[in-house]
Amino acid sequence: MKPSKILGIIVCTLLILIASGCTDSGDNPSEVTPAKETPTAEQSAPTTANQNEKTPSDQNLTVYFLDVGQGDSIVIEYKNKSMLIDAGEQDQGEVVSNYLRDQGISTLDYVVATHPHSDHIGGMVDILNNFKIEHFIDSGYPHTSKTYENMLTTIDQKNIPFEVAKAGQTIDLDPSVDIQVLNPGTTYSDELNENSVVLKVTYGDTSFLLMGDAGLETEEIIIKAGYDVDADILKVGHHASRSSSGETFISAVSPEVSVIEVGAGNDYGHPHVEILERLEKASKVYRTDLDGTISVTTDGSTYAVTTQKAGPASSGSTAYRSTTATPEPAKSITPSSAKSTVYVSDLNLKDEWVKISNKGSSPVSLNGWKIEDEGSKHAYTFPSYILNSGSTVTVYTEKGTDSATELYWQLEDPIWNNDGDTASLYDNGGKLVSTLER
Ligand SMILES: [Zn+2]
Repeated sequence: MKPSKILGIIVCTLLILIASGCTDSGDNPSEVTPAKETPTAEQSAPTTANQNEKTPSDQNLTVYFLDVGQGDSIVIEYKNKSMLIDAGEQDQGEVVSNYLRDQGISTLDYVVATHPHSDHIGGMVDILNNFKIEHFIDSGYPHTSKTYENMLTTIDQKNIPFEVAKAGQTIDLDPSVDIQVLNPGTTYSDELNENSVVLKVTYGDTSFLLMGDAGLETEEIIIKAGYDVDADILKVGHHASRSSSGETFISAVSPEVSVIEVGAGNDYGHPHVEILERLEKASKVYRTDLDGTISVTTDGSTYAVTTQKAGPASSGSTAYRSTTATPEPAKSITPSSAKSTVYVSDLNLKDEWVKISNKGSSPVSLNGWKIEDEGSKHAYTFPSYILNSGSTVTVYTEKGTDSATELYWQLEDPIWNNDGDTASLYDNGGKLVSTLER
């Protein structure tokens, strides 16, 4: 079959899907909930399924803004649920896949393609091929690029449920997390960026506004539509280009934290200096080109920002820092309650690394925990580090820069005995938690 014919079929399929209104509010109440619920156990209990939901303070929600160079990729994790928004350029598909695997993710409850530009969906085919995807949400604005065509073909081949986002809907990741679609509306713009899926994620008192590449036109539409755009954390529109982040909009959002997903030395001059200045006046700005992957963890009342690299604003050499607004990490993170759920999951004697995983449902602070080899000849003490539920961290023997999923022992020489060795994990009270012999 000629590619043009395949594309024709795809576009037709897409149009049928749009026409059938598969995500229209009300048509499918199991996936699209009509109204915002306050995320507490008592108030979200109209159905039996919700009765065991915990209040926000019992569970943390984490949003990762992945460093994928020039492009976007965002992961939302809550309990055992996960959602991916964009997957960077094609060469970043593997990076995003590896990141998700390191987090222990094999199924994505939702995948959102904000719009069909390659810096957002280029890596998507890798994701579609490597993970089980429960729902795929698209902006619904057709595009004739090969990248978009390949993405749709893969979705089609794998029978992945395909839905089109429409302003006013909510995405039901979990009853405790409110995810509202603010864009696209009923009509599409001629400009691809302006059809970006814009999401507002609210968990307790903490809110995130994720703009995709939406610009001034969308900002005006969203405000006129009467949406509450006020948010604590803003994923800045269009890599902080001057086509986005208008003065009125930024003052309406009034973010405490602005996150710019941008590649170092990109061809577009992003972030544009006047936008950077505007954001810096309003908020604390984080950038993936300077900070690496940025994560925000919230218990619904406070939040903490963690960066992969110490950015230039950081005076010391610590790999992690928190916003001044929230010096304490979310308070439900306690090492004692869940320590038996943390264990040594893998040890590679030759490549000199050990993996620690958390199979529990709560994040665990590993601050002060220790890894020792056989005979306790060497000991590694964890820095301030939170191991999320279902996540794995790799501790390398060698020197390196700590990241969200990799920590470095900072040793010159190998320590693991290739003829056989045992990794022992101790909690911060010195109690042996887990061992693994190889
Ligand atoms: Zn973009």
